Amino acid sequence: MALRRATFRLYPTKQVNEKLCYHRKLHKDLYNAAVSNRITSYKKFGKSVTYFEQQNCLPDFKEVWTEYKQINSQALQATLKRVDYAFQRFLKGLGAYPKFKSIRHYSGWTYPSFTGWKVHSTGDNGYLELAKIGQIQIRGKARLWGHPKALDIVNRNGKWYASIILDVDDTLLKNSRPSEGGTVAIDLGCNDAIAWTNGTDGGLIPAPRFFRKAEQRNKQLGKAKRRKRSPNFKNKTKASYELGRDGNRHRPVSASRRWKKVQSLVSNLNRKVANQRQNFVHQETTRIISSNSTVVTEKLEVKNMSAKAKKGKRKKQKSGLNKSILDVGMGMIKDALKAKLSDIGGLFVEVPTKKVKPSQTCPKCGHQEKKDLGQRTHACNNCGYTQQRDIASAEVMLLWHLNNLQALGTSVSDVDDCSSTSSTGKRKQAGSMKQLGQVKRQKSTPTGLDVDTTPSTK
Ligand SMILES: [Zn+2]
Repeated sequence: MALRRATFRLYPTKQVNEKLCYHRKLHKDLYNAAVSNRITSYKKFGKSVTYFEQQNCLPDFKEVWTEYKQINSQALQATLKRVDYAFQRFLKGLGAYPKFKSIRHYSGWTYPSFTGWKVHSTGDNGYLELAKIGQIQIRGKARLWGHPKALDIVNRNGKWYASIILDVDDTLLKNSRPSEGGTVAIDLGCNDAIAWTNGTDGGLIPAPRFFRKAEQRNKQLGKAKRRKRSPNFKNKTKASYELGRDGNRHRPVSASRRWKKVQSLVSNLNRKVANQRQNFVHQETTRIISSNSTVVTEKLEVKNMSAKAKKGKRKKQKSGLNKSILDVGMGMIKDALKAKLSDIGGLFVEVPTKKVKPSQTCPKCGHQEKKDLGQRTHACNNCGYTQQRDIASAEVMLLWHLNNLQALGTSVSDVDDCSSTSSTGKRKQAGSMKQLGQVKRQKSTPTGLDVDTTPSTK
């Protein structure tokens, strides 16, 4: 069994939409209350509040704030869990100090198990039923369908989505991606997104540059936005306009309607670019997987590669390169390949770039010579072999992989030390209730005995 997500767009009626917005607001308020509770408790009494203390307060909280009685109690726990995650991330040094969230920055809520909602669908359109909210039409198509496990309700750019976590059968998963089982080496780059080779055959896929194409429009919109009244924390201009309790429309001041109009154009444009890129990544990786089950590629650290240049005249140049790296979505291509290969039980091999130097080596004779970034063809000074630069380096990677196999007696499992596949690769646990249960179990065992209490996963 494997967990997969399927996302559907929701088409609520007007009444249901109001309820969805109201529930989102309640969850947001609970989130902020929980953050505030942690901060004041620590500042005033020097005591840090744990998740379980907050969870145990929920029944009393509901007695005071009765509107929370209509909300699924596991969904409320999941919201408190979000607060806990935010603080855990901060304490581990992974994130900033948790902030209070405005409704604009609060996406939605989670049903961590299969209670409080039902889905009437087999993966192709249908209906979603949320307790105390109502029935909602859903549209979209899941690639695979299974048993629904958990649900996220998300609002993005004013549109509602349901992201359902499904338990999908393994054989179904494997059969969903027929593969011819070949071996291919690919080189990811900025000028040509993917250079690929599988021995005799090879080719280039040009980089689509979605962001670059949208850049001019982005600049226009940015300029238009700067000329309008924007939300401003200092003079208390709010982003969205809320009516006062007595319907007083003068307070608080909101950003201008024109600013909001332009802002929505900006977010639409960004979403469009992101969708285009995702589409490209999925189409190309699916095409690669359809004929290959072993993919060899370079080890690359997108995060390091796209780190900002600190100072100097190369700053602008570097930021241009960063945009290109992120625009191709190199990291996304690699992640998608890894995930798809793990579905079919294939092999993802990463070549140690520093040791092999694919871009400096001749695939025919092994002669090494440095190339400039601008030098787009490989022309060997030793044997005279000429090839497009990226294809040549893909050829080197393929050779390295094949030689490695021979040296190790063609046992695929032995190469695993330089690859990062596959069926053993840990996917993020989707439903947080399982993690919750584990923590609970640890808590309930008396101290001193908790050495071997965590259940073995086998
Ligand atoms: Zn050569």
